[in-house]
Amino acid sequence: MKKADFIFLLAAAAICLVLFFARSQLRTQGSFAVVEVDGELYGRYDLRKEQEIGIGDTNRICIEDGTVRMIEADCPDHLCIHQGRISSRGEMIVCLPNRVSVQIDAPDADGPDENAPDLIVG
Ligand SMILES: [Zn+2]
Repeated sequence: MKKADFIFLLAAAAICLVLFFARSQLRTQGSFAVVEVDGELYGRYDLRKEQEIGIGDTNRICIEDGTVRMIEADCPDHLCIHQGRISSRGEMIVCLPNRVSVQIDAPDADGPDENAPDLIVG
């Protein structure tokens, strides 16, 4: 292997690494918890901000360390609370009896996402 080839490979590897880190950084920074009640948008909350949000007077979620979890619910089964923490795009907590859903939305992620058409880069 010539020296120039080796340098090229090294540079390519470095670029890949930088892109990878930039991307994962972007991913965690761009995440939101999207709360819907009865199919209607209730609110969008930044996962970087630690907070507790009451959803109507039936449910309560807690955002901390970039994750969301249901901390209070008046549903009989409490399945939503037992679903634990979510943090990745597409993950969801559902409280069926109260028709409450909490979903993670990260606008920069791959795949079709009708909520973020302005971030599609050719
Ligand atoms: Zn529930």
